[in-house]
Amino acid sequence: MGELGGFLKIDRSPVKWDDPSERVGRYTEFIAPRPAEEVQQQGARCMECGVPFCHNGCPLGNLIPDWNDLVYRGEWKRAIDQLHATNNFPEFTGRVCPAPCEAACVLEINEGDAVTIKQIENTIIDRAWAEGWVTPQRPEQETGQRVAVVGGGPAGMAAAQQLRRAGHGVVLFERDEAAGGLIRFGVPDFKIEKHVVERRVQQLRDEGVEVRCGVEVGVDVPFEQLREEFDAVLLAIGSRIPRDLPVEGRELGGVHFAMEYLYERTRWAQDEQGVEPSAPRPEPRGISARGKHVVVIGGGDTGADCVAQSIREEAASVVQVELLPEPPARRPDDRTPWPLWPAKFRLSYAMEEARAIGKGVQNFSVATLKLAGDAEGNVQTLHYAQAEPAPPFGPIAGTEREQPAELVLLAMGFLHPDPKVVDGFGLAKDPRGNIKAGAYATSEPGVFAAGDCRRGQSLIVWAINEGRQAARVCDRYLSEQAGRRPRPAALAGV
Ligand SMILES: Cc1cc2nc3c(=O)[nH]c(=O)nc-3n(C[C@H](O)[C@H](O)[C@H](O)COP(=O)(O)OP(=O)(O)OC[C@H]3O[C@@H](n4cnc5c(N)ncnc54)[C@H](O)[C@@H]3O)c2cc1C
Ligand code: SF4
Repeated sequence: MGELGGFLKIDRSPVKWDDPSERVGRYTEFIAPRPAEEVQQQGARCMECGVPFCHNGCPLGNLIPDWNDLVYRGEWKRAIDQLHATNNFPEFTGRVCPAPCEAACVLEINEGDAVTIKQIENTIIDRAWAEGWVTPQRPEQETGQRVAVVGGGPAGMAAAQQLRRAGHGVVLFERDEAAGGLIRFGVPDFKIEKHVVERRVQQLRDEGVEVRCGVEVGVDVPFEQLREEFDAVLLAIGSRIPRDLPVEGRELGGVHFAMEYLYERTRWAQDEQGVEPSAPRPEPRGISARGKHVVVIGGGDTGADCVAQSIREEAASVVQVELLPEPPARRPDDRTPWPLWPAKFRLSYAMEEARAIGKGVQNFSVATLKLAGDAEGNVQTLHYAQAEPAPPFGPIAGTEREQPAELVLLAMGFLHPDPKVVDGFGLAKDPRGNIKAGAYATSEPGVFAAGDCRRGQSLIVWAINEGRQAARVCDRYLSEQAGRRPRPAALAGV
């Protein structure tokens, strides 16, 4: 274990971010790396609990106490081997995971005192890349069977890597001009720079995965062709149908879904950094926040990313509104006791930045009444009222107000995956419209599903976990089809 009683002697040193008023001027990552000695000291705080709740909190079941201890001892190479045993892309989670493991850490019983697990994870993998320890792992034997993975987000990438390492021929189909899914085009560069994603795509290629970008399954390749040409199909198409706002004025110019704006900004930043896409990119739509009063409707992570992109574009002001009431400042023990994820208020990185430069406001309990426009049909004003504190969160009469709004970004969540693809493969759906695939196998033999398209819009850590699990189920199916004995997980690499 770490240092005996280490947590009593050493204080938690939280992840440090660069100064918010400085970082709004750039698109590079803002997490400040910590010296190795400091991270090792933080590893010493781990008690290596008899029942380590941290790795129950982690959807990947990461072997957290083990690598905390290895880091404390300075055994970085063994630490990355342990980390890779459960997580294909620790630099994705190490940068942008909300860290449910830390919320579940036993030290978190004293709120705010958890081991800095996420920072330790990120330091291990960044060091591994720097030392050249992350190399392609080609399979020792080929099975001769072929799998089409549809969707190049974190779920599809993890599934493709696992299936390839098990010896299958894998083609990864991605409709965007580059792979990575939301981590490539939704999550901004200042949370994760795109070369960090691209080097993993290159690793897939080096391991023998054929990555075909700019190919939309169902449009460029018919569903039937995929079923005929491959022994199995694994769908990881995400959950991208956005929740709309059915109010008067929705059709006005300057009202957009968040993803339309975020994709555009990320493409722009990618061009600035010279990260080449592997297929031609589409024409920009010209959505800009520059000099405008921006209203972001939706108080979650997607909304926060819109706020951060808008202020980097030098918006005149940004107001982020949320229908639900403001959460409590501290963990509500009656609703989400430890070790559950606490339903409490967290100041987003984006609102921290917006406030630091005096441009941002975040309001809760806001019911949108309508949007009003100018003579040219462009949005100008948001009409809203205070919302009731309980469902259905209707407007309270007599509280009506107005807010300048020259760009309105709708970030109210996502409903389900694209029904064209789900129906195209003739798959059963769950009541929410996601692909019904209880144990990753869908209603069609030989078709599997993973990630947001199966569980609904979620987190990167869940997407990686689902990609791995679905690959395992798919590998078993292929073994049965070929009359092979299914291989133990440890040997198969899945
Ligand atoms: C703005 C935003 C910010 C987020 N920030 C965070 C964060 O900070 N931390 C976190 O943990 N999670 C975050 N999330 C959630 C996280 O990104 C997702 O849960 C995760 O990316 C899901 O992975 P996935 O592979 O299932 O789907 P996706 O990442 O959505 O990937 C699906 C891929 O399938 C492709 N595709 C779809 N249909 C087809 C087709 N017919 N043919 C070929 N390709 C197709 C899509 O182009 C896409 O690349 C964020 C989400 C959003 C929207
Ligand atoms: S719960 Fe916290 S202290 Fe216990 S093993 Fe996990 S990281 Fe270490």
